[in-house]
Amino acid sequence: MRKVAFVTGGSRGIGRAIAVRLAAEGYAVGIGYLQSREQAGALAETLRLQGADALAVQGDVADREAITAAIRSVEASLGPVSVLVNNAGIAGQCQFQDIPDSFWHRMFAVNVDGAFHTIQAVLPHMIHEKSGSIVNISSMWGLRGASCEAAYSATKAALIGLTRSLAVELAPSGIRVNCVAPGVILTDMVRTLGEDTLHMLAEQTPLGRIGAPEDIAGITAFLAGDGAAFITGQVVTADGGFIV
Ligand code: NAP
Repeated sequence: MRKVAFVTGGSRGIGRAIAVRLAAEGYAVGIGYLQSREQAGALAETLRLQGADALAVQGDVADREAITAAIRSVEASLGPVSVLVNNAGIAGQCQFQDIPDSFWHRMFAVNVDGAFHTIQAVLPHMIHEKSGSIVNISSMWGLRGASCEAAYSATKAALIGLTRSLAVELAPSGIRVNCVAPGVILTDMVRTLGEDTLHMLAEQTPLGRIGAPEDIAGITAFLAGDGAAFITGQVVTADGGFIV
């Protein structure tokens, strides 16, 4: 039977590469986005022209009603979701003492509450089927500390805790939950750091380069699929050796 995957933040960057990869592996793909309507729509159109089933759906993951409605429209159009990739996320640097409440709360609302909302939306079907796979996109900063990243790091560490606990809770229901912790990946999120910083980060990476979104798509698709049938509760770091 055809499997349906839903990727949050599928319009750009890492999520886009994951959607492309899952479509190439035969999944029908729901592409979630917040603002990039054109990019998400164009990606869905491209995937359809390549023979895949794809649908772009708008919805703020921080808003339970909105993202649940988006998931319901994916289900109505493509079928029940059996693979969920929680990729949508925001980042931002700020000295801890200067973090405004709004910055802190929005970071948690998107990066953590977002996964809470999407997982609760897809779980009833997965539990009914006794099958399903969830991949949460954390960050190496969820495992290690970095200056001026306290809010972001806290949200990404929370995703790791969520992954491990849920993996144990959902294993008897046949549902696997895993996590990918990317290093520095060239997307809009890190382009804001500037050329010099990116060059320095590449030099600090044992494999000698910044990652590409496709570097994360491969491991995500592996964890999502049957090749990882005996893997749950794991955090796979994909960072070119940055935090070894
Ligand atoms: P990006 O290029 O900034 O793209 C972010 C994506 O998330 C976009 O598709 C965006 O949608 C979506 N999004 C943002 N806020 C949303 C919300 N409230 N509701 C729904 N969708 C929302 O980021 P990226 O670099 O690809 O990062 C993807 C994930 O990987 C994030 O969780 C990030 O923390 C993680 N990560 C990235 C890196 C890196 O170096 N790039 C490293 C480690 C972890 P719109 O296009 O509609 O705005």
